[in-house]
Amino acid sequence: MRVLETDYLVIGAGASGMAFADTLIAHSDAEVVLVDRRHAPGGHWLDAYPFVRLHQPSAYYGVESLPLGQDRIDEHGPNAGFYERASAAEICDYYTRALDEQLLPTGRVRFLGLTDHRAESSDGHLLVSLLDGTETLVRPRRKVVDATYVQSDIPSRHVPGFTVDESVTLVPPNDLVDLSAPAERFTVIGAGKTAIDTCVWLLEQGVDPDRIRWIRGRDPWQFDRAFTQPLDLVGSYMRLQAVWVETAEAAADGTDFARRLEDAGVFLRIDPAVEPQMFRGATVSRREIDLVRAIEQVVRARRVQSIGARTMITDAGELPGGPGEVYVDCTAAGVPSSAPRPVFEPGRITIQYVGVGFLPWCAATIGFVESAGLGDDEKNRLCPPVVFTGDAADLARLAYAALRGQVARVRDEAVAPWNAASRLNPARAAFDHIDDEDVAGSFAFLIEHTRAALAGLEQSARR
Ligand SMILES: Cc1cc2nc3c(=O)[nH]c(=O)nc-3n(C[C@H](O)[C@H](O)[C@H](O)COP(=O)(O)OP(=O)(O)OC[C@H]3O[C@@H](n4cnc5c(N)ncnc54)[C@H](O)[C@@H]3O)c2cc1C
Repeated sequence: MRVLETDYLVIGAGASGMAFADTLIAHSDAEVVLVDRRHAPGGHWLDAYPFVRLHQPSAYYGVESLPLGQDRIDEHGPNAGFYERASAAEICDYYTRALDEQLLPTGRVRFLGLTDHRAESSDGHLLVSLLDGTETLVRPRRKVVDATYVQSDIPSRHVPGFTVDESVTLVPPNDLVDLSAPAERFTVIGAGKTAIDTCVWLLEQGVDPDRIRWIRGRDPWQFDRAFTQPLDLVGSYMRLQAVWVETAEAAADGTDFARRLEDAGVFLRIDPAVEPQMFRGATVSRREIDLVRAIEQVVRARRVQSIGARTMITDAGELPGGPGEVYVDCTAAGVPSSAPRPVFEPGRITIQYVGVGFLPWCAATIGFVESAGLGDDEKNRLCPPVVFTGDAADLARLAYAALRGQVARVRDEAVAPWNAASRLNPARAAFDHIDDEDVAGSFAFLIEHTRAALAGLEQSARR
């Protein structure tokens, strides 16, 4: 068996593993072996549905060392007025370039694609080639980095939790572009961002809203994209920070937190009459929300049990189906729930969210903190994990962990300047726009209120 020694073994070359490795390499002399069972870097984007785009602007997605996109503000189409958002094809090309042009030329990174991490023992980590079964034992001198812990659960790789008669057409959104016959009606199953993307796409293709039925158990709270804009529009993002802190100071609990964010215009819901119960940190535009509100056939079922040739059984009862029905499975969790564990442990790093979303920024932060030569306790103080349970009632707990970490990093003399300049930080242009009223006003507000917000969140997180 081949034996490899390296400083860090990074398992998973998706957005998490790539952003971590890129920042670590830039700030240390470490060697890295990056392993993925997929053939190329990019993770779930390699299997994404063709009409997906980033939820956030490209300007702060990816790895630190390579820009993604042109930092253009779209003038036409559904994203008009906002910074461009890359398609899946652009993102896959980007990660290949990041590997080929940034990481591999350092001579300190090796990429093993189509290779599974199978087992871990005191002797090392067993990797198996999915092409020819060759086994490799990797012995990391410093750490193994689990960049699979918050990996995405996506429709094309997901096994639905219900039975389906073989005569039924059930497809992931990926296959909507390749139907064998036109549908009489589409039944979209799921309430998250993938389901919203799918409904928006169907409507944009001209499908009559009356020919779409939407099985949507719990509605999600979502960020209004207008508040996540960087660079010349960074005032929007700074306003979001100020509103978040103001809300944190006043909110009684997670549910109240969400309602207040809605009152401030930051959170959006789909149905004005139904209070959302779910939160996974997704972002939408008001235009997308307006579009999907045209769909009136909404079934409030939390669970589909089976789909037969003529009927569908759900926890809300039996629903009619038929031969012309195309069911679209959007029940994969996207950002799945994961139990919290320390990011830094002896011999191990587990990449997780350390902020409210923006995974590449989180992973790069962990890479930079790892490079700073601190003890695990100090590193964990700088990077408390932020856990998305999917439940809106947990919003205060999530916000408390995120704000604690943010404050610790802003106060740290090594992390703060790195963070302020990182291309993955949505606020990186804030100092260049200090004359902007939103930026200056938000900074002043944050300086005055962050301590009280932390205290408020500590209380409400306990409820
Ligand atoms: C449609 C969609 C849009 C999104 N948009 C955004 C956005 O705009 N901004 C944002 O911050 N987040 C967004 N997210 C959240 C998303 O989770 C992250 O952006 C990110 O791409 C996830 O990267 P990851 O590396 O954690 O996981 P993945 O992309 O799932 O990568 C994990 C990798 O680990 C590999 N792997 C797993 N187990 C093993 C093993 N045993 N051996 C070898 N390899 C293994 C897998 O093959 C995979 O390539 C979006 C998610 C979805 C689904």
